[in-house]
Amino acid sequence: MDVPGFSASEVSAAVTELEDTYVFDTVTMRAHAAELERRAYELDEPLLAARARLCLGHLCLRAGEVADADRIIRQVNRWATEHGDRQLLARSHSLWASVHRHSGDDAAALDHMVIAVELLDAHCSPYLQIWARVKLADALGQLGSMDAARERYADAEQLAERLGQERVHVGVLNNWAWTECDTGNPGEAGAVVARMLDCATRYGFALEPADMDTVAAVQIANGAYAQAEELLLICIERHRRDDDYEEADALPEYLLSLARARRGRGTLDPAQHALDECRDLCAARGLNALLARVHAEQAEIHAARGEFAEAFMEHRAYVAAVMNAHSEQREASARTRLALLETAEARREAADFRAQARHDALTGVYNRRFVDEVLPVLAADGTLCAVALLDIDHFKRLNDELSHATGDRVLVTVAEILHAAVSRLGPDAFVARIGGEEFLIALPRRSAAEAATIADTVRGAVRAHPWVDLTRGLPVTVSIGVAGTDEGGDAPSALLSRADARLYEAKRGGRDRVAS
Ligand code: GH3
Ligand code: MG
Ligand code: MG
Repeated sequence: MDVPGFSASEVSAAVTELEDTYVFDTVTMRAHAAELERRAYELDEPLLAARARLCLGHLCLRAGEVADADRIIRQVNRWATEHGDRQLLARSHSLWASVHRHSGDDAAALDHMVIAVELLDAHCSPYLQIWARVKLADALGQLGSMDAARERYADAEQLAERLGQERVHVGVLNNWAWTECDTGNPGEAGAVVARMLDCATRYGFALEPADMDTVAAVQIANGAYAQAEELLLICIERHRRDDDYEEADALPEYLLSLARARRGRGTLDPAQHALDECRDLCAARGLNALLARVHAEQAEIHAARGEFAEAFMEHRAYVAAVMNAHSEQREASARTRLALLETAEARREAADFRAQARHDALTGVYNRRFVDEVLPVLAADGTLCAVALLDIDHFKRLNDELSHATGDRVLVTVAEILHAAVSRLGPDAFVARIGGEEFLIALPRRSAAEAATIADTVRGAVRAHPWVDLTRGLPVTVSIGVAGTDEGGDAPSALLSRADARLYEAKRGGRDRVAS
């Protein structure tokens, strides 16, 4: 973990490990992720920095800092959108789904998981391939499409088995069992839990506290309260030992399960005790969705004691908490839609900006920058390519005798004539305005002789245009210098200066002509 000396490939390996680790120590790993991000910036590796940053977002989420996680995930998602990085996009949508899951908005979580799964390809790590399917299944299950969820869980299980991802395999079955249980299928949940235990034994894993909580929830659903309580006490004991390894809502979840198991057994005072501890933690950590479930359990405990007035009051608190969570959800999903819209707009603006930067504002044809970028490629290593440089004759006179605005309209019209002539020549020929009244026509795959013929047609078209309305009878003509790589096979810059020398010849020779 001695980051400062890391090379780019070492930082990349460390980030990959962070991205694909199933269980880890959240506190230590946060410092590590921040350090990797800093090192990636130093190495001028923005993609690596963005990946490390997303790991940091994940770790914030695990620590229960949902707002911070949300902000980081949006930043990275925006970066990945602008830079078109599929893998990072898939990861960021997958984490964004977790943010929604935390705030209880399963519909938004599903939206993001659908996007994430669509983005998966063979370049994505096995961990991401499997886990994205599991989270898609979680969201489908929560929204009541249990058949569709089972299909994805089975897919993920097969993939985990095939790719030898043992720890993740147990994780897949944990989530599957939990969803079956949570959506009211205790029988199916029991069967999946049996497979999970079997799988853990086969691989030689001790169960994680989160796995034990799932097993206990299924036991409670099937009426095995004493067994559930026994297992939860071990689970909580294990959790208290390795607190750093688990999410902020882990312990309160276990305590709530413990309260339910004890109420099931009829031991109401110990149940109340576990629930009180759970409620305090929820309040301290801002876990509002969980707090609603605490009210529901409290109502059950009151009812079990025959305290029906208190049970009723508690039930009212439960309903209010659920309504409140729903309105928070609506706001959160409005924020998501807005963020998605902003991302789409940013992408469009970036594309517009790129186009604008390479076009001439007055005439709409390409500009000098585009020529400088593209011509060296078209004419590289003597590839057959010709250019024609055009200059409007006595343009200054048009400006002076008519007006600058008329001069502009002449420029626009000449550009239109050139564009019309060139677009008939195939998709790779183009026109650019490279100076005040100077244009360039690029003619890939044409010889200098062919270009001369084309140039003369263009010259004729400008002269033949009905200018009279615009220029009150003053003629508009152009002089053209042509050059091709077939004459010398030289560098693109030499090609342009040869064309320029010939343009000067055409001017000296009396204008309205082509020199080649
Ligand atoms: P020649 O036949 O030798 O090319 O003569 P010319 O008058 O065309 O050449 P010169 O280079 O002396 O003049 C070019 C003029 O083009 C000068 C400048 O004011 C004008 N010009 C440059 N850019 C623009 C523009 O965007 N709009 C207008 N209306 N005029 C421009
Ligand atoms: Mg000029
Ligand atoms: Mg001129």
